[in-house]
Amino acid sequence: MKILSVNAGSSSLKFTLIELPSRETIASGLFEKIGMEGSFYTIKYNGEKIQKECSLKDHSVAVSKLIDELLENKIVTSLEEIEGVGHRILHGGSEFTESTLLNEEVLKRIEKYNELGPLHNPANIMGVRAFMKVLPKVPNVGVFDTTFHQTMKEEEFLYPVPYEWYTEYGVRKYGFHGTSHRFIYKTISEYLKRDDLKVISCHIGNGGSLCAINSGKVVDTTMGFTPLAGIMMGTRSGDIDPSIIPFVMKKTGKSAEEIVNDLNKKSGLLGVSGISSDGRDVEDAANNGDARAILAQNMYAQKIANYIAMYNNLLEGADVITLTAGVGENSKTMRKMIIERIKSLGVKIDDDKNDFRGEFRLISTEDSKIPVYVIPTNEELMIALDTMDLIS
Ligand code: ADP
Repeated sequence: MKILSVNAGSSSLKFTLIELPSRETIASGLFEKIGMEGSFYTIKYNGEKIQKECSLKDHSVAVSKLIDELLENKIVTSLEEIEGVGHRILHGGSEFTESTLLNEEVLKRIEKYNELGPLHNPANIMGVRAFMKVLPKVPNVGVFDTTFHQTMKEEEFLYPVPYEWYTEYGVRKYGFHGTSHRFIYKTISEYLKRDDLKVISCHIGNGGSLCAINSGKVVDTTMGFTPLAGIMMGTRSGDIDPSIIPFVMKKTGKSAEEIVNDLNKKSGLLGVSGISSDGRDVEDAANNGDARAILAQNMYAQKIANYIAMYNNLLEGADVITLTAGVGENSKTMRKMIIERIKSLGVKIDDDKNDFRGEFRLISTEDSKIPVYVIPTNEELMIALDTMDLIS
């Protein structure tokens, strides 16, 4: 069976066509600048790459183009071959505790959470409506970034603020990257043939979050009401004292929204190093002795290490630590810096085993008290698997 896994942004649409149950990627691609000047798309399949400029007025036009390309290039021989479309949806509030078959009524319910994910949710929903229009007979499934975290207990997801903020306005920790953390748990539990694992999953890419998982259920995660909370990221600050916001507003004359924008887009590795949000650039500068790049790297590693130690306590001893996403999969330097900072837990890195990029591997020593694995994440596959389950 062929399933399309889709991530629609406000001006982009990313897709992967996956064959199941073999899990083979048949084609993947990206439509960019939708609704803007200079829109274009790239499709990769069978070792070939198509890149075309083309006017893409809206998401429906992009979906029609995608279908035309799939047929013209014989990637599929007929539309009936596409049995389902799975959509990444950022926010399902507290309501969506599982991936869900989508129809107009469900979309209306999801729209209630647009104000909690204003940058992503409306775009994700627009993507769903485009597929409903172009492929009206094909079922659509919503896979939410928030659902995996819905097993958190009140004492973990509540903030110590007036309780009415939660009951009246939904102020609580939701958590994100759930599809990735769920994929990582599934992969490691299948590999170790255990479904009772206590895992600290570290998703560290441009965005980043940690998740404490016990027997497949989330106990706690670092992102919060929005993705701004938790560890230091590429451009996001992670946790800070909220009093900084009105203080800097007064100093700069900026609005709250502008300061929050600075915390989302001009902070983290970029803000501290003053060089880049990209771990590779910061690493190059640090290797050349740039003091702020070194500071940024140290801060980045330490904040992750601190949360690992905290989650080890919360889980009363983790069985496994996993690292994934852009930094976790590719940066041996950052992996080493993080693991060196959790030596109090008896965790030790094996430098020879750590010398690689982008594969599933154990990187800790044999006598490390907690094994550490690098596991490439695959949110697209997780979305396709959920879609297959729901439509079968
Ligand atoms: P996103 O959160 O956007 O999905 P990714 O998981 O794709 O991000 O991660 C992208 C980030 O991974 C880049 O911004 C870069 O900082 C980091 N990265 C990729 N390769 C390396 C590397 N070799 N060394 C350090 N950082 C890397």
